[in-house]
Amino acid sequence: MLTCAAWPYANGPRHIGHVSGFAVPADVFSRYQRMAGKDVLMVSGTDEHGTAIQVKADGEGLTARETADKYHRIIVEDLQGLGLSYDLYTRTTTLNHAEVVQELFRSLHDNGYVVAHKQLGAISPSTGRTLADRYIEGTCPICGYDGARGDQCDNCGNQLDPIDLINPHSRINGEVPNFVETEHFFLDLPALSDALQEWLGTRTDWRPNVIRFSTEFAKDLKPRAVTRDLDWGVRIPIEGWTDADMKRIYVWFDAVTGYLSASVEWARRVGRPDAWKDWWTNAGAESYYFMGKDNITFHTVIWPGMLIGANGEGSRGGTPSAFGVLDLPTEIVSSEFLTMSGSKFSSSRNKVIYVRDFLAEFGPDALRYYIAVAGPENQDTDFTWSEFVRRVNFELANEWGNLVNRSVSMAHKNVGAIPTAGELTDEDRALLAASKEAFTTVGELLERARFKQAIGEAMRVVSLANKYLSDSEPWKKKDDPVRRDTILHVALQAVADCNTLLTPFMPHAAQKVHEALGGTGVWAAQPELIEVEEEGAPSYPVLMGDYAAEAARWASVPIVAGTPLAKPSPIFAKLDEKLGETGPAWSPVLTD
Ligand SMILES: [Zn+2]
Repeated sequence: MLTCAAWPYANGPRHIGHVSGFAVPADVFSRYQRMAGKDVLMVSGTDEHGTAIQVKADGEGLTARETADKYHRIIVEDLQGLGLSYDLYTRTTTLNHAEVVQELFRSLHDNGYVVAHKQLGAISPSTGRTLADRYIEGTCPICGYDGARGDQCDNCGNQLDPIDLINPHSRINGEVPNFVETEHFFLDLPALSDALQEWLGTRTDWRPNVIRFSTEFAKDLKPRAVTRDLDWGVRIPIEGWTDADMKRIYVWFDAVTGYLSASVEWARRVGRPDAWKDWWTNAGAESYYFMGKDNITFHTVIWPGMLIGANGEGSRGGTPSAFGVLDLPTEIVSSEFLTMSGSKFSSSRNKVIYVRDFLAEFGPDALRYYIAVAGPENQDTDFTWSEFVRRVNFELANEWGNLVNRSVSMAHKNVGAIPTAGELTDEDRALLAASKEAFTTVGELLERARFKQAIGEAMRVVSLANKYLSDSEPWKKKDDPVRRDTILHVALQAVADCNTLLTPFMPHAAQKVHEALGGTGVWAAQPELIEVEEEGAPSYPVLMGDYAAEAARWASVPIVAGTPLAKPSPIFAKLDEKLGETGPAWSPVLTD
């Protein structure tokens, strides 16, 4: 199981909208798959090239490299703080990445799917630099929308060329660009269209709207530029172009190839250089790609098109690249947007909640829980502090935390260990059956990346266990210790099962509950931040982890009577109700 989580862009710290769209869902999925016995490889990294980094660097008085270094480190720390179990989280400015991108580019070129064309390029009159497509704004020639960008219209979704825009102007300073002739390479997507449509026709289990949208997109493809006039990016591996000062591979081509390059880097770092092939050239492997909805066609059409071309499988034929025949995506999991007061998070308008601030105040699992239970899985969803506080207090603290606390406390006080069960009643058996069955129900939902329904089912068992405890009243069974111990044993078995069911969602809390139940060792493994370097350049952090060492398995494991229990400490603290009104002091003011 290859899990490909979208690559965050190194132009600033990540906000909670970003991580709700790709990172947390990908991690929940990967953790579940590992627990269910799959060999998971979860890869991603920071996307660090392109004009937007150059623009950010200019604004901060840094070089592009310094800006990339700065935000890569911040992003890595945030993702580690969230407990995202990447086998490798790397970056696009490595030598390995450049080599992999160049090999893919070269094979697409050799197979005839990357061809050079002269075109008109936009130059800023004030700086003499190329003005990238996305920094040009104007009126869409197709639908008339007046906020269309030079690369695409967000209103009608069509790909555009900046020269097509009516009244083009710079989004940076408003000036009108000069259009001058420049030569670039283009990915010949029309030559891949038939193969793409044929392949999309085999994706029968994708969500219907994703197939429909992608198939329409694949029918009407135009050649897409894969190089730019820019000095920040991967060099073009074609004779006469490699040393050109202002020619680089376009950032989108470079970023989407990161899934492959990160897999290759991971294999090298674990000392098995060919191990990546098990996930990329293996008919028995599956690949799941996680992204926001604005990135769907890159993963359903353009990246598969690049793979088809590099494999030599489009209408021009060809031979496979040095990587062999690479596998196309099995499944695409896209999220909608997390909004604030009805609009997208926006750093520029100061309408943003940064992951870092959130983690410092509330820890990772409250956010992970909120994203799973109330996140933008199927539709744009508004984040509100009142909803967050309500869910933490009533669902995590009152329901789940309290179930753990009172069952472990009573067992600790009365027995000092997990009690032995006597004869079971129908009520006992009903609860045990429900928590056992949930492994099938929740597991099937997680297989299909239905996170909201999956966590809802897990929390339903938590409610059943709470009701069981309240109805059976073990605290009134002083005169019948055998019955009391049986109830507590059954309740603790349900707690253990619920904890396993909730582990992919809340791995940090799961570790604590595991220990509260007398468990030792690593239940749910966490990513480690490792400093690495190449060729004497400054060191930089990557995330890796020894997830094979964790004990969590997707099954109901019988608890062992006699296991000593200590007095438990609360798993989730209740939040001040007042926080629900405006959020913490650092939060922008949000209204419901
Ligand atoms: Zn349009």
